[in-house]
Amino acid sequence: MIYEPVIGLEVHIQLLTESKIFCSCSTKFGAVPNSQVCPVCLGMPGVLPVLNKKVVEYALKLAIATDSKINPRSIIARKNYFYPDLPKGYQISQYEEPFCEFGKIGIYVDGIGNKMIGLTRIHMEEDAGKSMHAESYVSEEESLVDVNRCGVPLLEIVSEPDFRSSKEVSAYLIRLRQIVRYLGICDGNMEEGSLRCDANISIRPGGQKEFGVKTELKNMNSISAVEKALDYEIKRQIAVLEEGGKIQQQTLLWNSNKNVVEPMRSKEYAHDYRYFPEPDLVPIVIAKEWIEQIRVTMPELPLAKKQRLINEYNIPEYDADVLTDDPALADYFESVAKKVKDKKAASNWIMGEVLRALNEKNCNINELKITSDHLAEIIQLIEEDTISVKIGKMVFEDCLSSGISPNKIIEEKGLLQISDTSEIDIIVDNILKKHPNEVKLYQEGKEKLLGFFVGQIMKATQGKANPKTVNEILKKKLYGKR
Ligand SMILES: [Zn+2]
Repeated sequence: MIYEPVIGLEVHIQLLTESKIFCSCSTKFGAVPNSQVCPVCLGMPGVLPVLNKKVVEYALKLAIATDSKINPRSIIARKNYFYPDLPKGYQISQYEEPFCEFGKIGIYVDGIGNKMIGLTRIHMEEDAGKSMHAESYVSEEESLVDVNRCGVPLLEIVSEPDFRSSKEVSAYLIRLRQIVRYLGICDGNMEEGSLRCDANISIRPGGQKEFGVKTELKNMNSISAVEKALDYEIKRQIAVLEEGGKIQQQTLLWNSNKNVVEPMRSKEYAHDYRYFPEPDLVPIVIAKEWIEQIRVTMPELPLAKKQRLINEYNIPEYDADVLTDDPALADYFESVAKKVKDKKAASNWIMGEVLRALNEKNCNINELKITSDHLAEIIQLIEEDTISVKIGKMVFEDCLSSGISPNKIIEEKGLLQISDTSEIDIIVDNILKKHPNEVKLYQEGKEKLLGFFVGQIMKATQGKANPKTVNEILKKKLYGKR
């Protein structure tokens, strides 16, 4: 029997506003626990929340980017539940009449091609606090609560059950993360929890229309964890059905240490949220003019940027894909490519050296000491035959750690390429004199030895000899002696 997985996602993104959704407390990450709170975000009796306009603006941006239908009027709802990290006993969210509906996000999956994933809805809500269990300052028998996160603005993006494999899910998460980063509304950092993903998953025999019983998967804090957890759960459900069992509707937690899913204590999560319209907040009514104002300020989105890079700089699709993953990386590329002749070289340097440096330093591109101007300088120096590619890489490393301009590094370290033929002539003569046996073997037909001679010359000149000139002179001299 062939089974088909059916997966839907609920993604929460934390918005990059400076203040919270209904009060003016700071949203800054990493502050002293319980220092960024006020009566409003703690839900003290008698307080009145006020909606942060920036949150609505950011929500509009995502709605436009995902081609969603924006509801001119939407309702803010109160979702009631008790949990230690939610001292006020309810969360302000949206339920019926959400902010926007019927959007879509395009993904590309190897072997399947392009596919559109439908969005059921996007709505605004406030985050809850955080229970601390594993931190160094929490002893084994206790749990502490940090309520700084209470009231931090979130958007929840609910997809249709359109995914048929874990690969489609990870392609979607990568694309969504890319979109919110391009819009500048969320940093997309899954490890720090600013992008969180829960999945609903069921399986059904191939060809069957009705959905199977679904389970909910939580606690996956990286895209690879999502993929692993889904693959695990698909296999688990198939095994249950094959053995004649039934899937139980339940919430499962991914345990990334053991690579298994574990059931949550189900009673604790048998929710009845008793939603009702939030009495302290009026409905949100959005003027058409405001939507249009935001529409004209929309940045170029990933797919459009990718196509433009291919057209303008004539780089391969693969390169454009890598370079547009992060808008800051694409800007860096464009800034280099505009200054050099060889656009593909710019792309190669960035996909090779720059991405490696970013990985090693685990930082973002604007924090690198080697700026786009520096990299352009290195590529220009190579294009002008002032330095070799090899020296270029040395200069890159130097600039990466010092931030000193490549021209200055070359000048200070005397790394100018030797292109002067008379100078190279003398060096080649010396090397040939030192290795009479190899010269003899070469002349007897062992032409592979050319590489050996080039290596010796490069060693003698610390890599500074112009390789093209070296090759020419070397061949001439070796043939001359034949
Ligand atoms: Zn507050």
